[in-house]
Amino acid sequence: MAEDQARAEKILQALRENFVLPKWIPSRRDPFETLVITIISQNTADKNTARAFERLSKNFPINPEALANAKTSKIEECLKVAGLYRNKAKAIKQVSKILLENFGGSLTPILSMPFEKARETLMQLPGVGPKTSDVVLLFSANKPTIPVDTHVKRVSKRLRLAPIDGEYEAVRESLQRLYAPEVYADVHVLFILLGRKYCRARNPLCRQCPVNAFCPSRKS
Ligand code: SF4
Repeated sequence: MAEDQARAEKILQALRENFVLPKWIPSRRDPFETLVITIISQNTADKNTARAFERLSKNFPINPEALANAKTSKIEECLKVAGLYRNKAKAIKQVSKILLENFGGSLTPILSMPFEKARETLMQLPGVGPKTSDVVLLFSANKPTIPVDTHVKRVSKRLRLAPIDGEYEAVRESLQRLYAPEVYADVHVLFILLGRKYCRARNPLCRQCPVNAFCPSRKS
């Protein structure tokens, strides 16, 4: 374990030296905005997520009351540039209604719960799975969790920082054992950047990869 932690630390250090943490980390965003953006972002490229969110923001105030009372067709219209826009529009409207009816129109009562209870309650909302919950909890409530998207999962497994056959929870727990909570957000973001630039799903660029010295999966 101590050996794994030392290697994990070296990997993080190398990533910090090679990538600039982007300013788009949604740490200062309103939690409801983060939730809406993360629902829109499911299986959608960043550029289209941003376009869809911008269109939605131009048409509605981004709060549960406005979106609970919006016509679904109008929300769909705004989200058309994102994939699965009908499902996402439905989920956003339903989540808004639930927050309005059961939580006083705000995510604050949920985010004030103890971590596990908050996570469980978020995951009961329509269209909200573990990744979306963890993004909201980490970036808008400063709770100790690491969201595992497709890049984080692939990179963690190739680096052997997570079990090779592990699903979402196993990867999350493994990373959380290796890193301190203060760096969870950096780990999430830097692993995504590594996955996009070097550790691609197909043809990873191992020779140029900044963490190849610490990677058991590197190809020569
Ligand atoms: S060395 Fe290759 S497999 Fe390992 S993290 Fe880098 S790109 Fe991925």
